Amino acid sequence: MMLDAARLRADFPLLERQEHGRRLVYLDNAATTQKPEAVLSAIADYYRTTNANVHRGAYALAIRATEAYEAARAKLAAFVNAWAPEGVVFTRGTTESINLVAGSYGRAHVGRGDTVVVTAMDHHSNLVPWQILCQERGATLRMVEITEDGRIDLSDFGTALERRPKLVAFPYVSNALGTVNPVAQLAKLAHAVGAVVVVDGAQSTPHLRVDVQALDCDFYALSGHKMLGPMGSGALVAKPELLEAMPPYHGGGEMISRVFDDHSTYNKIPHKFEAGTPNVEAAVGLAAAIGYLEKIGLERIAEHEQALAQAAIEQLTQIDGVTVYGPRGHRAGVVSFTYGDIHPHDIATILDQDGVCIRAGHHCTQPLMRRLNVPATARASFYLYNELGDVAALAGSLVKAGALFGYVPA
Ligand code: PLP
Repeated sequence: MMLDAARLRADFPLLERQEHGRRLVYLDNAATTQKPEAVLSAIADYYRTTNANVHRGAYALAIRATEAYEAARAKLAAFVNAWAPEGVVFTRGTTESINLVAGSYGRAHVGRGDTVVVTAMDHHSNLVPWQILCQERGATLRMVEITEDGRIDLSDFGTALERRPKLVAFPYVSNALGTVNPVAQLAKLAHAVGAVVVVDGAQSTPHLRVDVQALDCDFYALSGHKMLGPMGSGALVAKPELLEAMPPYHGGGEMISRVFDDHSTYNKIPHKFEAGTPNVEAAVGLAAAIGYLEKIGLERIAEHEQALAQAAIEQLTQIDGVTVYGPRGHRAGVVSFTYGDIHPHDIATILDQDGVCIRAGHHCTQPLMRRLNVPATARASFYLYNELGDVAALAGSLVKAGALFGYVPA
């Protein structure tokens, strides 16, 4: 059953706005989501009632700020069934989380002649940090191919594992194709050859029930701003014993235990990886976002988005000249498409005139675009406040765009 999106939409002040005099149809949720009143007021309340620097304060206000920050960590840990709250390191988002793993775990464990495995559908955030690491270490980066219908090629994945990589990284959900990867299966295969598994959870955490222990990955990166939370919120969720053994990533205040003239000892996890004053506002806002998502239920959100994606695929593929990329059947609420030889940027600009916000470009997946033989795609991505009317608005506006370029609707 679909969610009552019209009712949910009323919780999001920005969605009340109009664009170019038209109802705002926001379909760029894979880039970032809008924020409900519950998140906006949690941030304002934090500053009105609780703000102080965390962890070192001896007065009640600072203790309350610390409690709010640590409560947010516990909430996020429960949300993804983390191994322990100490295994949740707050970061600015997925990108910083993956750079942390590459810069700390990677530098400590990947050496000359070793292999790191990624996939051809990885976002640049789960690719470039590994490129930098491999170049620095003299290691080999092995990219696993994708199938025609936009899934990880399991046969090539198996071949890549024959190199006995130190580390295997892949996305749970592709931001460009909507593919939902079989994470538990891939993690099991990677573990069988002794690799550590890094999952990019930027597009899965907001949209489906995540249980990192059931997935049995080792590191899981997520972004709060893609799940109704504030910009600059996110986390690395990791097996605590791995974090314990890792060298620090950033140096500074809070991450230390004792500091001598020429060396230091380090704080316990997760603080060892949170140098400097953290973004407490982001953590508090993210906790409010999780509260909002939990009230609706991740299972219902996933079902709703799948119905929207299915409707979008059906309607878009009926338009002559439109190609939709990615798997048919089970997939996430991300629909990438091209329309004949119309440049995706032109499509997005024309749709904007109708108040329809979509993304156009390479979606930070240039290796994937090369494999699809396109420079860019247009992409509509859905969330809990979108409804079937938004899909119809997308399709209607697309037909109008096509007509401007001489395409005749089927
Ligand atoms: N990975 C995927 C699959 C993404 O879609 C994104 C953002 O679009 C990222 C990583 C990077 O996330 P952030 O920019 O929040 O660090």
